[in-house]
Amino acid sequence: MPESVLVTGANRGLGLELVKQLLRKEEKPPKVLLATCRDPQGPWAQELRALASTHPNLVILQLEVTDPASVQSAAKEAESHLGGQGLNLLVNNAGVMPACTLESATTKGMLDVYNVNLVGPMLVTKAFLPLLKRAAQASPDTALSCAKAAIVNMSTFLSSIEKVPVMYHSTPAISYRCSKAVLNMLTKLQSMGYKEDGILCTALHPGWVKTDMGTEEADLTVEESVAGILGVICGLSEKHHGALVTWEGKALPW
Ligand code: NDP
Repeated sequence: MPESVLVTGANRGLGLELVKQLLRKEEKPPKVLLATCRDPQGPWAQELRALASTHPNLVILQLEVTDPASVQSAAKEAESHLGGQGLNLLVNNAGVMPACTLESATTKGMLDVYNVNLVGPMLVTKAFLPLLKRAAQASPDTALSCAKAAIVNMSTFLSSIEKVPVMYHSTPAISYRCSKAVLNMLTKLQSMGYKEDGILCTALHPGWVKTDMGTEEADLTVEESVAGILGVICGLSEKHHGALVTWEGKALPW
């Protein structure tokens, strides 16, 4: 298990459940769990604040993924909590999925979604890279793993170009699908760029999950999805590096 973890968009949905299940890990909960959200003092972070009040290893950081100043200051604050050990696992979870069809798509709509779902993870990863490198260097392990250093980019089944015919009519989500398909490309590029540094990079589909984004009609509860996700993350290895995998550990085609 990673000794330190950072999750973006951790105040609700999958991000919040990741935090809850990481804190509940009986064997080895993270020594430092950094949960980021846009408004740590606001009403949407109430549950996160309650968890932090009873778990000294949980630190809440302000982080708006589209704001470089916010990303930089979160990285600086994170460093002060990590005690020189670096960061083992970065989960780029924050994301948005507005309704968008081929007819309704606009320049602003496309760029806004790209900004959160693609540019955000790129900026966050760049800012936390020195901490990921530090963790990788400090690790005695030679093989890639989440205990050494890893980046998990939250992707989706809807990003798969091969699978577009399966759900095109039910969920066009043009801006979202395009942004996540390019996030997959970023993941592959990161896997090439950071391999020498010992940092594992994977894109992950969490399943269709009952959250504000997934809606009540979704297949999975957040508890089910996150239990699967954490199992997959703990078992990540070389073969998942630069790949798109599901919450059940199966490969998804690009
Ligand atoms: P939710 O809509 O429930 O939560 C989204 C989270 O992202 C919130 O914490 C939100 O913060 C945060 N966020 C949104 N925009 C920004 C921003 N600009 N800066 C920082 N944080 C931001 O989504 P889910 O939990 O369902 O989804 C989490 C991830 O999983 C996403 O990347 C999504 O694409 C992916 N996913 C989800 C699926 C599902 O079925 N639910 C299926 C496939 C993929 P705030 O509260 O401030 O808005």
